Amino acid sequence: MNHARRYREVCERIEQAAERRGVDPQGITLVAVSKQRPIDALRALYDLGHRVFGESRLQEALPKIEALPTDIEWHFVGALQSNKAHKAAQRFSVIHSLSTPAQMRKIERAAVSVDVLIQVNLAEEPQKMGIPAKLLDETVKLVLNYPHIRLRGLMTIGPNLGDAESMRPYYRALREAGERVGLPWLSMGMSGDFDVAIQEGATHVRIGTLLFGARSEN
Ligand SMILES: *Cc1c(COP(=O)(O)O)cnc(C)c1O
Repeated sequence: MNHARRYREVCERIEQAAERRGVDPQGITLVAVSKQRPIDALRALYDLGHRVFGESRLQEALPKIEALPTDIEWHFVGALQSNKAHKAAQRFSVIHSLSTPAQMRKIERAAVSVDVLIQVNLAEEPQKMGIPAKLLDETVKLVLNYPHIRLRGLMTIGPNLGDAESMRPYYRALREAGERVGLPWLSMGMSGDFDVAIQEGATHVRIGTLLFGARSEN
């Protein structure tokens, strides 16, 4: 597998989508989602100069964080169990998946400042984490009670509709919600639809498959 070529292609597509939206591509963070990937795959991307990685399970991430250089910025993108939120806050720079008061209390108790996004479940899919959009205002208010949580923005995992274009209304809705509550970061878009997400204002795209190849689901 040619990591350099894959990486270059993704970076080029990010630039093109940013151009279409008329924003600086430097303002878009590529989170390389490295769950279920061996450390060698992360190191290959690191050696190409990449420094931002996303993991979705704490137990899997910890040995990777130990093994790899300390100038990596780690993003937690998975379902955050509240009993692991304390440790996640200590080890990760950004948590994309805040949704419950229990998580907030645990993060706060870690007493380290961490950048956080609230996960919004726009399609209200029962199997997905995140708050329904109608609870956003009260959730934002609640977070303000926790001084170590630096609330930066919103994250969503769209419904898997099979084509990128049909995701556009969801990504637009997340941007409008972010504007309404005054939060600048928008984590949206994955391998299949990140161009559309950037056109709708994504500041963070979370990409695994396009960078590392298909995951063997287990
Ligand atoms: C796995 C995962 C991704 C990456 O998905 P790909 O389709 O492989 O790009 C992005 N976000 C979250 C939350 C994930 O769990």
